Amino acid sequence: MPQRKDKLYYTHAVEIRKEKEQYGVYSLRKFKKDDLVLLEPVRCSYVMSPKDFGGNQSDACAFVAAIYRSPETLGREFMSFGLEAINGVFEVPPAHDKRYLQKLSRKYNKPYLHVLNTWRNVCTYHVRNYLIPSESNDLKVRLQLSALLNRVNHHCSPNSYGVCYFSSYRTFNEPIAYVRAIRDIEVGDEITYSYIHPKFLVEDVHSRQNEISECYDFACSCSKCESEMSKINALPT
Ligand SMILES: [Zn+2]
Repeated sequence: MPQRKDKLYYTHAVEIRKEKEQYGVYSLRKFKKDDLVLLEPVRCSYVMSPKDFGGNQSDACAFVAAIYRSPETLGREFMSFGLEAINGVFEVPPAHDKRYLQKLSRKYNKPYLHVLNTWRNVCTYHVRNYLIPSESNDLKVRLQLSALLNRVNHHCSPNSYGVCYFSSYRTFNEPIAYVRAIRDIEVGDEITYSYIHPKFLVEDVHSRQNEISECYDFACSCSKCESEMSKINALPT
């Protein structure tokens, strides 16, 4: 947990940037090992059943659907954040998201522009979904909005670790997210942490890639994986 003695640099210490077609969080200052790199309240956490989540739309679309489904609770809470879409970012949804948003527009009888604007506001933040066990032991999906933590990319040789901490695991009250440096970080460095258990980080590239693709469904292309893969590819067959 963050401690009272922690210096809080987080407000102007990092920025979200797009590099190589991917958003990431980059350092605007030097950090020493153990410094708190960022700390943020998780803005909105919403629990839904997997059947409401289904389909191949993005997590952001699922969140937009949840807002229209619960206008008095989630919708009101979301409006109270006063989020505004960032110009030049997430202007146009990808085709499968667009089709989903058009369906929502018809289903809830809202102009498409209204739905599109909600999508853009949701995309200002990043949505991540987690499967969680519920009281009745069936799985639920938790959608979580956070501006920074969810934008921090995975690396197999990370410079930080990231935690989303809940004061109560059952109710998800007052969640906060924080990232702490595990080694010195220079200005301009990308902030990264490992999405997989640290025990996998000492294993070879194939075991790491298996674990990542099983849990997160992406192929890691971090600099450590790339250099290990190129060494393997250079071996005589
Ligand atoms: Zn990797």
